[in-house]
Amino acid sequence: MGQVRWLSVAVISILLTLLAFPFFPAGRTASQLERETAPVVITPESSPRLVTDYHGVSASSAKPAENLHLRNSSGIQEQVPEKYAARYQHWKQEFLGTDIGRQQWASYQNNPDFTLTVVITGDNPEGGTTGHYEWSAKGKLVAATITLGCRLDEGVPNPVYFPVMNSLLPTETTHNVGGETLAATKIAHEFGHVNRTAKGDAVLYQLQTQLIPQYNRIFLSNGRDARDPRLIELARRMGATPVEIWEDREYWGETNAMLYLRDRFADDFRCLLFSRIKRSIDLYAKDYEERFVNIAQSTSSGPRCGW
Ligand SMILES: [Zn+2]
Repeated sequence: MGQVRWLSVAVISILLTLLAFPFFPAGRTASQLERETAPVVITPESSPRLVTDYHGVSASSAKPAENLHLRNSSGIQEQVPEKYAARYQHWKQEFLGTDIGRQQWASYQNNPDFTLTVVITGDNPEGGTTGHYEWSAKGKLVAATITLGCRLDEGVPNPVYFPVMNSLLPTETTHNVGGETLAATKIAHEFGHVNRTAKGDAVLYQLQTQLIPQYNRIFLSNGRDARDPRLIELARRMGATPVEIWEDREYWGETNAMLYLRDRFADDFRCLLFSRIKRSIDLYAKDYEERFVNIAQSTSSGPRCGW
């Protein structure tokens, strides 16, 4: 009995610790999740955790838009410490080695009304994140910052929110995909966030940024009851629940990552990756399938890999 009681105390202690720190630190990658094939039940509190696994804690603590300030530069501003310069150039050249990479890079580089800052940092080393959005008074996105980890070429994100990046998980058939390709796919994912935010409604985005923490605070304090009238009202104002908002944003990021892989690989290997992506989407993202199908069907030639 003594052992059983000790075990119970230990389990309760672990549960309390998890409740106290609902967000796991970044760096937990698909290598730890790869064998989990059962569908994951996504709840409001698990959503940020699975997202922050890759994006880091800043993904769940987005700040309200900063006031627009005058800039003396536009285009792409790269802030890369000297010690990371060589590897960053490899990753960037890999991204620019595709049509989609060149087009998207040039569209920001040559835009006099937009500043895209790219930062390389030792924080969240295998992940990336996009934020510090700024809008003009007319609601046009004018600035964003993409922050990339200094080991972007390592660590494959989980398949739940990142089905495209996860398709690069090394196996016997894909062991030859280089780290620089993984890094470039992550860059494409982050560009996808900027592209999407630029197309979206600025007021709604800022409202969501403001209300998501409120929603999560209530959810964590009300016995995790999503039917709480306060939560229903917040979701109505945001246009969706926080889980739905996270899903929508991440799958747009992944859509852009898929465009990169489409352009990066020839038919056979692309087909292998696309079939892996399809498997993850069937398991975790069925409601968002259409945006991925559209890309699978946009290949100019070759098989569409079951899509
Ligand atoms: Zn993302």
